[in-house]
Amino acid sequence: MAYYDQHMHTHFSPDSAESFENYLEQTDGLLVTTEHLDFHDAYNGGVDTVLDYAAYSEKIDGLNAIHDGRIRRGIEVGYTPESYARIISYLTGKTFDVILLSVHQNGRYDYLQPIIDEMDPKAVMKEYFELCTEAVRQVDGANVFAHFDYGIRRLPVTVDNLREFEPALKGLLDEIMAKDMALELNTRSMYEYNNADLYRYMIGLYLEMGGTRFSLGSDAHSIKKYRYHFDDAIALLRELGVSDLTQFKDQIAYSEPI
Ligand SMILES: [Zn+2]
Ligand SMILES: [Zn+2]
Repeated sequence: MAYYDQHMHTHFSPDSAESFENYLEQTDGLLVTTEHLDFHDAYNGGVDTVLDYAAYSEKIDGLNAIHDGRIRRGIEVGYTPESYARIISYLTGKTFDVILLSVHQNGRYDYLQPIIDEMDPKAVMKEYFELCTEAVRQVDGANVFAHFDYGIRRLPVTVDNLREFEPALKGLLDEIMAKDMALELNTRSMYEYNNADLYRYMIGLYLEMGGTRFSLGSDAHSIKKYRYHFDDAIALLRELGVSDLTQFKDQIAYSEPI
């Protein structure tokens, strides 16, 4: 079982206080953390959430020297149209093993903020899926499209609601496939926000279109959620006929059997 959790945060992200050392105690195998990059971060009072790359690299290099190089470097890029230029400029000249691409906000509010509850769910879905598609189209070099349901976590969305957006979702999956990116199964979305049925539908659509790359990530912000419900997500993938996951080293994809 060489596959690992491909979406985790430490205190290098403002919404986590977890340490690398605690994650290292959870496994003898590989680890990667995927720290936040969110310019004008609505969830964080509008300040820029920028990973301190020098400190992050120094910490990982130090730990890798005594832990057999078990830690890989990652980042979770939060896209907004307004931040595109700053994202590209930040990424230039930096190396990561894996880059996750996310949409967390629309430049005005984060999709996990209470204001969402007052909005028309269909309008939110339309805007969110359009932003996701634009993010994948605009940003080159990302490896994984994270939590496709982030924008609808607060909404009571059913599979039938999602089906109404099938053309938009297919458009998004088309872009993901065109960029050779992997589709993430975000296990906190699936089993904490109870969106496993939405994932089952989305994975089915992706497979139908010829998609083959899947990434598994808990989105843990502490060791309590490390490999959260991985057995359930793996069982779902096997049931749907998927036999491997896609992982990234130096941003090069390889598959790991499940
Ligand atoms: Zn995220
Ligand atoms: Zn995350």
